[in-house]
Amino acid sequence: MEKILIADDVPANIKMLGEMLKRKYEILVATNGGKALKLACECAPDLVLMDVMMPGMDGFTACERMKAARETADIPVIFITASNEDEDIVKGFTSGGVDYITKPFNPTELHARIKTHLEIRNSREILKRYSRDLEAINNELHEKNALLAGALEKITHMARTDCLTGLWNRSHMMEKCREEEIRFRRKKRPFCFALCDVDNFKKVNDTYGHECGDYVLRAISGILKQSLREQDVACRWGGEEFLLLLPEADIPGVLEVASRVRQRVACSGLTYNDEPLRVTMTFGLAAYEQDEGIDGSIRNADLALYEGKSAGRDRIVSFKKTE
Ligand code: GH3
Ligand code: MG
Ligand code: MG
Repeated sequence: MEKILIADDVPANIKMLGEMLKRKYEILVATNGGKALKLACECAPDLVLMDVMMPGMDGFTACERMKAARETADIPVIFITASNEDEDIVKGFTSGGVDYITKPFNPTELHARIKTHLEIRNSREILKRYSRDLEAINNELHEKNALLAGALEKITHMARTDCLTGLWNRSHMMEKCREEEIRFRRKKRPFCFALCDVDNFKKVNDTYGHECGDYVLRAISGILKQSLREQDVACRWGGEEFLLLLPEADIPGVLEVASRVRQRVACSGLTYNDEPLRVTMTFGLAAYEQDEGIDGSIRNADLALYEGKSAGRDRIVSFKKTE
């Protein structure tokens, strides 16, 4: 049953209102503004019927105080008073009342107004609950969104990298090659490839085991990362084969980078279980040729690499066109 607080200093008024309302509502009574305020705070009525003129604290002040306190701010206050002065009516609303009824009043009208204001209050409570629920859902969504964004970033990175070496993988390299090709068409900036292959790698695996082979691949990847310029891209092209893409570089430029890597690999002084490993690499270099496209230009680097292998390994060979 909803609770209505009647605040009035005249017992006959309280009795009359109480008789009128007690069948539908639980009735609380206060005989002045101060008591009304205290009761509103302690018993949280659903609505207050407030007289204006009361000894001690008057109805307007009691209403203002109720509106100022968080616990009672949302309780609707209907003023019931004998005064129908414009000034008082305005004050009723400015002090926070939702309605103003002058005596004598029609009981049916009073019931209707109480019902309306209770419905408005209930609707407002429901809206507040929905709003709180929505805020909680929203916060949860934000958190889940941030988790998803993090996971997506991780997955995207994983999809582009080689898990053994941490270098870019072939698909990322192809994307970078296509970007470079577009730049070449627009600005005619040359770019080069270096295809690098570990020499006699099978022997490393066969002699020291696969784990040692993996260790060598990781060590070489570290050397590659340290030896390249920021704009260069290194990827693991296949098993023990790495492809370097060097934007804005001609053959002398890529030769310089490949020489640096070859030297560093050959002098790396790698050991495995305290045994020194002799690791060398052979390099095939080729400039990007528009007529041949990306695939053709990488094939040229592969031909140069093959030539280097045939010539004895641990060397750098630049592709030369046969006329
Ligand atoms: P070459 O100097 O002619 O390149 O000889 P190679 O022995 O390096 O070349 P070959 O193609 O005969 O052997 C490559 C070996 O690399 C065979 C394969 O098992 C090994 N390999 C490929 N991927 C991996 C890997 O991820 N880890 C390890 N440990 N070995 C790998
Ligand atoms: Mg090899
Ligand atoms: Mg190979």
